Amino acid sequence: MIKPPYIETIGILGGGQLGRMLALAAYELGLRCVIWDPDPDAPALQVTNNEIAKSYDDEAALKQFIDKIDVAVLEFENIPCELVAEIEKVKPVSPSSKTLAIVQDRFQEKSFFDKHKIPCAEWCFVDSKKSATEAGKKLGYPLILKTCRFGYDGKGQKKVHSDFAMLPSWQELDCKPCIAEKFIPFDKEISIIGVRKKNGEFAIYDVAENIHENHILDTSKVPAILSNELEEQAEEYLITAMDKLDINGLLALEMFVVGDKILANEMAARPHNSGHWTMDGARTSQFELCIRAIIGYPIPPCERTHDVLMKNLLGDEIKEIHLPFDLGFEEVRPYIYGKTEIREGRKMGHVNFLRKKKKEKKAFSHIFYIIGH
Ligand code: AMP
Repeated sequence: MIKPPYIETIGILGGGQLGRMLALAAYELGLRCVIWDPDPDAPALQVTNNEIAKSYDDEAALKQFIDKIDVAVLEFENIPCELVAEIEKVKPVSPSSKTLAIVQDRFQEKSFFDKHKIPCAEWCFVDSKKSATEAGKKLGYPLILKTCRFGYDGKGQKKVHSDFAMLPSWQELDCKPCIAEKFIPFDKEISIIGVRKKNGEFAIYDVAENIHENHILDTSKVPAILSNELEEQAEEYLITAMDKLDINGLLALEMFVVGDKILANEMAARPHNSGHWTMDGARTSQFELCIRAIIGYPIPPCERTHDVLMKNLLGDEIKEIHLPFDLGFEEVRPYIYGKTEIREGRKMGHVNFLRKKKKEKKAFSHIFYIIGH
């Protein structure tokens, strides 16, 4: 017999599309949600009657949030660690403030990869003119400078081509603490998402293959065209990361494939854009899986049921959705996020193109590249 802990209300920190989809999954399970985002127009606030549209340093809002919820979950990394630490004194939060401190800071994240022998691009910490120059000497060019904090979708990043450009590039990043990272001429980008509960129970989705345009995810497909060895390697790195972080909820790991090696790029301890295919192409979506894990329910089967190509609708792409019926997809499932303002590169929605799961991977790869480029 299953006797789940009595949990009635999920608190969601962050009101973007991931928060919206988490809330919808929670409502399906009969739970209530309180969603906290300073922006009253945030997509997730449209789906709840229990919103807190106050800044994250508002003490009254914190009290209100804590009083109403049984457990909290984050939908993006840039929530202050101190806020999460305050909440977890009284209610469980996924991810914990300890994990958040690692995944929201690239220096901490790279140090974590090194410590736990998860290979990543060679890197250096940059926080002064001297360390910037030394990083260039050590890594060579081109390299990528990334601010340690608050960077996403290519924001807070600069590709540096020469010694000459190193200091100006760091200055363009407002001389913020950065990591400098060797530029990796990768063959492809992949990501893998898993769920884990405190008791160590876990499940992993199939690896997705991703195409980024201007540093923003454009397309993901499953299955990824990958050797069994590399697939197992990716799973092993994810399991190591989930265990070492003692994850209770989701963890996504983005990686580069270079020849017969995999290099970790970054982690997210929340639902991930490259996992949107699971909404239609897996037994259980990443959102439902996350909610079930954090409330202590058993982890349901999450195996892949379809071949899926997920296309993000970025900016104006939301205005006209192209339906490539002639390319062998049997189902087309668009989703929109309810964002009022269309901006270049902004994630406005996505489409899952589905076909029945096939063993042979080549034809799908062909289709992928027609749409991806
Ligand atoms: P990130 O914000 O670190 O996920 O970077 C966004 C995208 O920039 C990645 O998905 C890659 O396409 C590209 N990128 C980041 N770091 C590197 C690197 N070291 N070498 C080559 N491309 C990179």
